[in-house]
Amino acid sequence: MKLIVKVIASTMIITSFWSCTSKQEKMENRMKAFVASYESKAIPLYRESALASWNANVTGTNEDFAKSEKASFDFAKIFADRKAFSELKEIKESNAMKDPILVREMEILYNGYLGGQVDTTLIAEQIRMETEISKMYANFRVSVNGKQISDNEVESILKNETGSKELQTAWEGSKTIGPVVAANIIKLVKHRNTIAQKIGFSNYHEMSLKLSGQDPAEVTKIFDELDSLTRNNFAELKGEIDSYFAKRYKVAIADLRPWHYQNRYFQEAPQIYKVDFDKYYAKQDPVKLASTFYNGIGLNVDPILAKSDLYEKPGKNQHAFSTDIDRSGDVRTLDNIRPDSYWMNTILHELGHGVYSYYNDKSLPFTLRDAAHTFTTEAIANMFGRLATDPQWMLSMGVIDAKESETISEESRKALRLQMLVFSRWAQVMYRFEKSMYENPDQNLNQLWWTMVEKYQLVTKPEGRDMPDWATKIHVALYPCYYHNYLLGDLLASQFYNYITTNVSKNQSFVGEKAVGTYLKEKVFMPGARYDWNVMIEKATGEKLTAKYYAKQFVE
Ligand SMILES: [Zn+2]
Repeated sequence: MKLIVKVIASTMIITSFWSCTSKQEKMENRMKAFVASYESKAIPLYRESALASWNANVTGTNEDFAKSEKASFDFAKIFADRKAFSELKEIKESNAMKDPILVREMEILYNGYLGGQVDTTLIAEQIRMETEISKMYANFRVSVNGKQISDNEVESILKNETGSKELQTAWEGSKTIGPVVAANIIKLVKHRNTIAQKIGFSNYHEMSLKLSGQDPAEVTKIFDELDSLTRNNFAELKGEIDSYFAKRYKVAIADLRPWHYQNRYFQEAPQIYKVDFDKYYAKQDPVKLASTFYNGIGLNVDPILAKSDLYEKPGKNQHAFSTDIDRSGDVRTLDNIRPDSYWMNTILHELGHGVYSYYNDKSLPFTLRDAAHTFTTEAIANMFGRLATDPQWMLSMGVIDAKESETISEESRKALRLQMLVFSRWAQVMYRFEKSMYENPDQNLNQLWWTMVEKYQLVTKPEGRDMPDWATKIHVALYPCYYHNYLLGDLLASQFYNYITTNVSKNQSFVGEKAVGTYLKEKVFMPGARYDWNVMIEKATGEKLTAKYYAKQFVE
């Protein structure tokens, strides 16, 4: 009896062991077939779409933009395939795969296809609403004393004017777009929520984060951590800013209002310190400095620069970006370089994105030859971009001499700290406002906005103001649920910087330190997207993403 039972039991174990293995094998084979079919469609269309977009940004012609739009639509269409999605869903729900590469590919592709399953008529309606709003922004001009002026002119008034009345008029003028677009934005927010709910999310904010591999609770936790780490120090700095402006505008500190902070949103550091970095770069070649620097740390950027479009041209996109054309070594950056500190920062920044892409691991499958997340590549770019105004880096690169480096060291540090803290408090407003707006678009949004501004930026609401000032920030309408990534990129830049300068090389300017390049290649670039972003960060720095090192660098 006993024996028989034992035999049966062991047979059962063997049977279930075999059936388990075969199920695993079966699902892994199905996934491999799925990937092969996906890659045969996606690789050529991805490349075509990246190239078309590159050409459109270089030439600026309608013809090239039309081609680019069609190519990106063709690429996006892959993810609308319902049959492919149900195959992927079956594989996912079987939970039978063990191969970590296949599992990770499945996770990323599943999110891509899930986002593509929305009814095309709903998407078309969303695009129509977005286009309409984007035209409203494009056609709007601020009217000040009966004269129409551009956003750049408003910013210039806010920076240079010293009369409170003039500042207030310009600021209030810039807010008159709010009532024009607010109702349309609320409609769009509700429409986006409908789309998200159709594929099983509670609202669009949650969907956006989750489909990009972020858990909203985890992001909120990091924002809370950063809030408590920066609150006191920011309040102190804000006191310094207020004293400076009270003197400049000859008003009492209690009478300072949002128009007194030199920016429509108080998102950039006001100019209360006086280091002029531009003068140091006036006779420099930023491209040459950047290539010398990167090559010196063992990250060869010559193949990237050779394919790039670096200088101003008629019709060309006036900003800057980096793009990975084929995930196989064709990496380029578009810039409009001039000899000043802004473009020094920018070319270091864009080449940071560039090396992240260029040094991917070619043995990984196509889907994983990508950054762990968009904010992790932003972090690398920010870490290198910050060097442009780092006196130690400028000294090591021969831009300034030791005496000058010493002279500007204190003010440079203060200026960078101010820039980081002011931006971080503003990013708190954006993240929390958007999250709450998508959770309940019917609440009093005007009040929600000012509650956030007063709490995080410590800016006083003008008496009795009840206007949709939130609607004047174009990102709320047209680049939704993305702003937090800028801040996460800043935090991670500091975490990488701290890890490298503690464990890889004590040389804080990185100049000539090949070990820095080797570390980044091995721990950040080559892993690509094979791990979830927080797993990659933990493997590379020994800790999950934390606000600690940002605070260590910028908070005292
Ligand atoms: Zn960037």
